[in-house]
Amino acid sequence: MASIEMRNIVKKYGDGFPAVNDVSMDIADGEFMILVGPSGCGKSTLLRMIVGLEDITSGDMVIGGNRVNDKAPRERNLSMVFQNYALYPHLSVFENIAFPLRLAKAPEDEVKRKVTEASDVLELGEHLDRKPANLSGGQRQRVAMGRAIVRDADAFLFDEPLSNLDAKLRGQMRTEISRLQRRLGITTVYVTHDQTEAMTLGDRVCVLRKGVIQQVASPRELYEQP
Ligand code: ADP
Ligand code: ADP
Repeated sequence: MASIEMRNIVKKYGDGFPAVNDVSMDIADGEFMILVGPSGCGKSTLLRMIVGLEDITSGDMVIGGNRVNDKAPRERNLSMVFQNYALYPHLSVFENIAFPLRLAKAPEDEVKRKVTEASDVLELGEHLDRKPANLSGGQRQRVAMGRAIVRDADAFLFDEPLSNLDAKLRGQMRTEISRLQRRLGITTVYVTHDQTEAMTLGDRVCVLRKGVIQQVASPRELYEQP
């Protein structure tokens, strides 16, 4: 687990207007932070800079007390769940979940134990031999979650993980993510367009607009009108 501190983060693509413009924010160890705001306000860019998929133009990104500006994604020990789940089509569910452990060259018995644990939590035990193409949207989403929790990451990053699911599944997965995060107590940054997700999942909600933080507040302060 680790806190995430952003100090005056700026991101410019080319010479355009900054996509992220002087963002400073402290996300506490174990906190669930939601990022909301209109399309193009810089949510994905911010998430990608936390993970290391995007260079920071200026400012400091500090994770668990260490400045990580110059660290590659795999040196940051973070788990990201993408909107499209980014599963490997030629690999089984087991191997998709195991992927980060294989990269880390974990021993076979550890891989087996951790994948089994993750798939039990996510009720994927019966599907471990299947390929992603033969899974429902909800199951695919769970495989992506499995891959995120299988290693002991310092933080979870979610980029609209439920936006491709129908309303019923979205509700189920919302409950599941909430349960999982509280159980694991892992620092989480979660991008969404969905107010219900923001309200049910977030400890705090950060509202971005044109690359600038408009406000950071609890879901109650933000959404419950007097
Ligand atoms: P969303 O609104 O769902 O976040 P976008 O359409 O904004 O998706 O972005 C999809 C991908 O395209 C991202 O990887 C983003 O970095 C990239 N992208 C977004 N805007 C531009 C742009 N103006 N030029 C090049 N790539 C872009
Ligand atoms: P959001 O996730 O809130 O929809 P993004 O972070 O994707 O916003 O985009 C923020 C701004 O940066 C937008 O104006 C977008 O067009 C621009 N942008 C994003 N990715 C790229 C890219 N790879 N190249 C150029 N511009 C980009």
